[in-house]
Amino acid sequence: MKIRTRFAPSPTGLLHIGNARAALFNYLFARHHGGEFVLRIEDTDRERSTQQAVDVIFEGLKWMGLDWNGEPTFQASRQDRHAEVVAQLMEKGMAYRCYCTAEELAAMREKARAEKRPPRYDGTWRDRDPADAPEGVPYAIRLKAPKEGETIIKDLVQGEEVRVANAEMDDLILLRSDGTPTYLLAVVVDDHDMDITHVMRGDDHLTNTFRQAMIYRAMGWNLPEFAHLPLIHGPDGAKLSKRHGAQSVVEFREEGILPEALCNYLLRLGWGHGDAEILDREEQIKLFDIDGIGRSPSRMDYVKLSHLNGIWMRRANDERLTALVMQRLAQRDDLNHDETVRARVLALMPGLKERAKTVVELADNAAFAGLRLPLTLTPKAEKHLGEEGKKVLAGLETRLAALEPFTPEGIDSTLRAFATEHELKLGAVAQPLRAAMTGTTTSPGIDLTLAALGREEVLARIRSALSA
Ligand code: GLU
Repeated sequence: MKIRTRFAPSPTGLLHIGNARAALFNYLFARHHGGEFVLRIEDTDRERSTQQAVDVIFEGLKWMGLDWNGEPTFQASRQDRHAEVVAQLMEKGMAYRCYCTAEELAAMREKARAEKRPPRYDGTWRDRDPADAPEGVPYAIRLKAPKEGETIIKDLVQGEEVRVANAEMDDLILLRSDGTPTYLLAVVVDDHDMDITHVMRGDDHLTNTFRQAMIYRAMGWNLPEFAHLPLIHGPDGAKLSKRHGAQSVVEFREEGILPEALCNYLLRLGWGHGDAEILDREEQIKLFDIDGIGRSPSRMDYVKLSHLNGIWMRRANDERLTALVMQRLAQRDDLNHDETVRARVLALMPGLKERAKTVVELADNAAFAGLRLPLTLTPKAEKHLGEEGKKVLAGLETRLAALEPFTPEGIDSTLRAFATEHELKLGAVAQPLRAAMTGTTTSPGIDLTLAALGREEVLARIRSALSA
């Protein structure tokens, strides 16, 4: 059997990390088993399903490196097929027309509430003679769900059967009175027609799964395997919400998280393999399987994510990180961001990426490369540019002007020799320089910093500091 999984998001305008994780798991499971991973856009809510909302999903998946097989399926385009299946269920006597009006249904719910019963459809039209049908009243079509016995689902994550008494369930609507299919019906028909073998989704869908199982059985179709993934909660165990922090893929990208770090984190959040922590895509595909998925909800740990992001940034290619930094610097009009600045950032990157945990931090720490003169100094930096500091700068100016070649090694020797001659600690030489170069007291190693700025700019920044 060829394994086929799917990701079936509704275009809501964002790609929530719970869904992103479901996509990742479906992708890895399919790839691990040499199967296929397909994409279905559940765009039946026509108002929300704008092109923009659909693009958010495409872009999010591409950013995460989750490529799908074939063309995506758009659920709304399959409404005729959904209606056709309902017609078959009618023929089989497994579905019936329900003429209840909205008022009648509301009264039914009210009555149930008053009697402290769960609000369910009471089966008014289930066994009624269709000849009783009122004329000109629109009708919905409901599934004739089994009333006795149990509906049982094998769940691959819980590792056991999950069951519900059929008496607890009512006759779900398949087609609404305006002729549109419900979500429950559409998902079943599509998963069946698309030959999906494994449905992996959040466990908030578990009750839907019971109802969907009834549709499969009514049609005499084989059920796919189900794996319900425990949800991702906030750090405090409550439902993940805005107040906890970023929740959608775009927000994490905005906060400077790399896709490989997000994927690695989301994978480890709900799945484990021994003590493997840092896994690249190839290792993920090799090791992923359903038996490693945890059974209880996980808690989002933003601190751990940024730690992991730091690790992935140190592994990332400098050109790529430089491009990401330049995109951010380009949004600041207090900076230059031309090719010269790009080259400086690239040269600084080995030092910059040692310290930063996100691309945002990386860009903040790289910004000095594009500063225009004179620099604005932080109060701490200002302290290093007093009389003593300026003396150091003036002494260094001529030496640096004459240094050949202007490399980190040459700069390092020059600064050390200067410190020894003047009986200064190296810090007493480096700090005024750093203040003059960056306006702050932090930067990558001073030798790397000067070399990246280049002689001309270093001298200009020294002169500017001396004349302030
Ligand atoms: N479209 C549903 C959602 O975005 C998921 C459907 C499914 O995975 O079965 O929640």
